[in-house]
Amino acid sequence: MKKKINLQLMLIAIFAIVATLVMTSAAFYDLFSEQVFDDLKIYSRILDKDVLAENVEYFEETVDSKLRITVIQKDGSVIFDNMADFDEMENHSQRPEIMEALEQGEGTAIRMSKTSDKNTFYYASVLENGNILRVSKEVQSIWSIFESSVPMILLIMAALVISSILMAHILTKRLITPVEQLAQNLDQAQEIHAYEELQPFMDMINRQHEDIVKSAQLRQEFTANVSHELKTPLTSISGYAELIETGMASPEDVQRFASGIHKNSQRLLTLINDIIRLSELDTPSRQEEMFEMINLYNVAQTCVDMLQFSAQKHKVTLKLEGDECYVQGNKQMLDELLYNLCDNAIRYNNENGRVTVQVYPENTKTILVVQDTGIGIPKESQDRIFERFYRVDKSRSKSTGGTGLGLAIVKHIVARHNADIHLESEEKKGTKITVTFV
Ligand code: ATP
Ligand code: MG
Repeated sequence: MKKKINLQLMLIAIFAIVATLVMTSAAFYDLFSEQVFDDLKIYSRILDKDVLAENVEYFEETVDSKLRITVIQKDGSVIFDNMADFDEMENHSQRPEIMEALEQGEGTAIRMSKTSDKNTFYYASVLENGNILRVSKEVQSIWSIFESSVPMILLIMAALVISSILMAHILTKRLITPVEQLAQNLDQAQEIHAYEELQPFMDMINRQHEDIVKSAQLRQEFTANVSHELKTPLTSISGYAELIETGMASPEDVQRFASGIHKNSQRLLTLINDIIRLSELDTPSRQEEMFEMINLYNVAQTCVDMLQFSAQKHKVTLKLEGDECYVQGNKQMLDELLYNLCDNAIRYNNENGRVTVQVYPENTKTILVVQDTGIGIPKESQDRIFERFYRVDKSRSKSTGGTGLGLAIVKHIVARHNADIHLESEEKKGTKITVTFV
């Protein structure tokens, strides 16, 4: 790329140099010919009196020796020429400058010499006595003028080419350096000084790089959390089992320890299930996933029925309100979504509390609300409860068997459905979660 830019810049420079040269030469030659004709005109003004007086010897001596003077009669026969034997000269009536002079009083012509690289400029004018006075001068052709200036031109060109090579080099360097620097150390992208046009590109790379770093961090954190969460129940299980193994436990203890083992392995199972579910939801949308028109009200009904027993256990009333509403969705995911929201609303509730599930249409949208009169979520935690393993009150959540993954799963499901989730909560008053399906 660097080489390409270099080459192109140089080509442009060379083209510009040549074009300028050709154009200035042409302009110069134009001016030059005008000048020559002006000179010839002046000569002929000076000469015409002498010619009329036939004072030929006089002007033969006085005028510029390079000036050729010819006197021609109306019929084209040459009656005088200071450089040739006019008796032998052919009839001049067909020469363009003579024809023009006969028509308009004066005429001009430029002719290339066949033998030398010279051009002859002719100026003819009609005299008072009807004869035609023609003055002409041999002048170097444009090519010979050009030729004589070739060394100078080459020198200028060399200078220009060298300076454009230098310029091209500096410019490409300025163009390429930030990109190269960026490629070498993405971490210090902020410090690289880029030019305006490159900035959006750099910003984007920066952002993407930060995202990658962040998601790597999150993954690492998640792995650490998972290990920790798995370790706790396993330690308990191992402890209980060891006590039974050594025969130190009384029969009643054995019963108690077995139930501990049962509870902890149950917890392990839910944990592992949740983790597997999360990683499933994490992998970008799989094609085989079924999306269909689903009656959200029915899904809510099934969930409320299923959780009725748990609600009674927590001394909470759980009811469903609303109408039949259809959304484009995945049945299993919507089941999980409702289950997790209702389960939280029941678990983080107070005795004699209420949980209300609502499903209703609003304009073209479908709204799902799960509202409880429970303990609420403190302001500072409201942004975080959708994070994996985040629990407001670790001890309470654990005692109720929570893993802190429920709302993380909910968040993924909502995203998969292109829906929106909104949380309103006040401590000791309750929580309202609204999901809007478009
Ligand atoms: P899991 O749902 O995986 O069994 P969990 O309920 O602890 O475990 P989440 O559902 O993700 O995890 O909830 C995260 C935390 O948010 C909970 O531990 C709880 O502190 C808080 N929370 C969630 N829902 C409510 C609610 N309705 N009222 C009060 N706090 C809530
Ligand atoms: Mg939960």
